[in-house]
Amino acid sequence: MSTDCIFCKIVAGEIPATKVYEDEDVIAFNDIHPIAPVHFMIVPKEHIESLASAEEKHQALLGKILLLAPKLAKQQGLKGFRTMINTGREGGQEVFHLHVHVFGGGASLPKT
Ligand code: ADP
Repeated sequence: MSTDCIFCKIVAGEIPATKVYEDEDVIAFNDIHPIAPVHFMIVPKEHIESLASAEEKHQALLGKILLLAPKLAKQQGLKGFRTMINTGREGGQEVFHLHVHVFGGGASLPKT
């Protein structure tokens, strides 16, 4: 746990979040500033700063997170969804605890 990390605080239950999933390795919760009708994040409980900090030992954890995305998206009623991982300040990352955004619903998503 990193003491000044907002997502570590959510993992520890010190800051409230609307959880959509939790197990021993991973937590998923709604984004506080959603950019789509459904917008949640899947977050490893271990404090990994970003995708660029992930190591070989995280391979199974990263695979687990990706495989969870369609399951949780389906549970949230999404027929399709978009995933996004912002990496580093220049990649738009603002919270430096690895997370996978999952969003969709409502109007169709813009083409990238
Ligand atoms: P960006 O803000 O550019 O999407 P990130 O990929 O780092 O950057 O995403 C951080 C996300 O965390 C933002 O979408 C933000 O709304 C969300 N967020 C910040 N604080 C909280 C919180 N306490 N609970 C839920 N989501 C949060």
